[in-house]
Amino acid sequence: MALKLFNTLSRSVEVFAPLDPAGKAVGMYCCGPTVHDAAHIGNFRTFVFADLTRRYLEFKGHSVRHVMNITDVEDKIIAKVRAAKVPLREYTARHEATFFADLDALGCLRPHATPRATEFIPDIVALIEKLIARGIAYQAADKSVYFSIDKYRGCGCVYGQLVKLNFDEQRVGERVKSDEYAKESVADFALWKARVPEDGDVFWPSPWGEGRPGWHIECSAMSMKLLGAGFDLHLGGEDLIFPHHEDEIAQSEGAGVQPAGRRFVKHWMHGAHLLVEGKKMSKSLGNFFVLKDLTAKGFTGREIRYALLQAHYRETFNFTIEGLNSARTALARIDECLGKLREIAGNTEAKADPALLNAFTAALDEDLNVSGAWGAVFEWVRDTNRRLAENALTPPQAASALAAWNTVDAVLGVGAAPETEAPAELLALLDQRQAARKAKDFKRADAIREELKTKGWVIEDTPKGPRLKRL
Ligand code: AMP
Ligand code: ZN
Repeated sequence: MALKLFNTLSRSVEVFAPLDPAGKAVGMYCCGPTVHDAAHIGNFRTFVFADLTRRYLEFKGHSVRHVMNITDVEDKIIAKVRAAKVPLREYTARHEATFFADLDALGCLRPHATPRATEFIPDIVALIEKLIARGIAYQAADKSVYFSIDKYRGCGCVYGQLVKLNFDEQRVGERVKSDEYAKESVADFALWKARVPEDGDVFWPSPWGEGRPGWHIECSAMSMKLLGAGFDLHLGGEDLIFPHHEDEIAQSEGAGVQPAGRRFVKHWMHGAHLLVEGKKMSKSLGNFFVLKDLTAKGFTGREIRYALLQAHYRETFNFTIEGLNSARTALARIDECLGKLREIAGNTEAKADPALLNAFTAALDEDLNVSGAWGAVFEWVRDTNRRLAENALTPPQAASALAAWNTVDAVLGVGAAPETEAPAELLALLDQRQAARKAKDFKRADAIREELKTKGWVIEDTPKGPRLKRL
């Protein structure tokens, strides 16, 4: 069966056909994090969506090259580096490390390449030079280099491929230096930002003087360098459609580097945003979560991943603590069923039972209908549990069921129940309880025991001392 995906470019669901004549290789780029702080749970919805897309393409037999950039220089980062008074790399390295640890905790496969913008300055400069040579970019009196929307359109190119823009009511050619500007504004945007005192030590030499790249050109340069000037798939959150992705198309196609008849990107996919407890995340509302806020509440990366994979990627998703509790219950159901199958199967090996695979594939082939895929999984769990209760499964049948689960889990990526250690925050609480007991403060010791319990862990006494075990 063919995989169909919604393409933001055509605003319709299309059969996904890679550019590779053999239909096998797929180049996929997803805009990565801006490492100015820890990524939040909304960002991770987008990265888990990219991970699901990549894993499903691999499941369908494609060999995917997954590239995700690290935006390590842009307006927000520079402001924070200045405030923190540390070198740029020292500042971004810290947040980059947290990002990768979080990505691993969420069971996301590492992209094959994670280029940093600051390591691609020569490629960025070369791309801007091409645009200047074609008369589409110009240096303004403020010494910055801008992309000319007017000139680009004059070459017969369309600005406004992903969004509809009204050119009649706008003063085309007005300039913006900022990386993010208002929806529907048709503005010449900065490709190279001339150095200003506020940039501190963050600047590079260029043919136009010292400065730094704009955010949009970073992604054009890195994606084309690593995947070729025309590639298959570009992903990101819906907020990036305009201006970021529209500008990526304008820069990349404006440079005229694609082979004849090829576009910069064939297929654009955008994930809808995530709300927390029904509201847009914000620090003032107290509903702003980074991963460690949730693990401190006792949830595992596996449970968070499961919750993030509940809704279709084009639907706004309401992330709730209740949803995380449901994720825990649902995963426990799967784990219990798998545990019984393992007991029966022993070391027997068998081919995957096709029933689950067929229903699972039928759902995901329809624009990654992940809720349909989970529906197939739980139908299978119900059916398997019934057969287990009837003692109707032989070891080869149990092994075949397990093989089917392992195949679908290569896409879902929730894995087996981990015999994990409790998070560091909870281990610290366990130490505090021991200290309270030593000090004969049994009230405090009991209160800590209760707190651990509400976070899903019980204290188990072992010959080696107390340890934490999942409820
Ligand atoms: P940033 O680090 O801000 O550049 O964002 C990284 C990725 O997260 C981008 O693809 C954004 O579109 C995406 N993103 C930002 N906020 C949310 C949200 N609330 N829900 C889902 N994705 C988001
Ligand atoms: Zn990007």
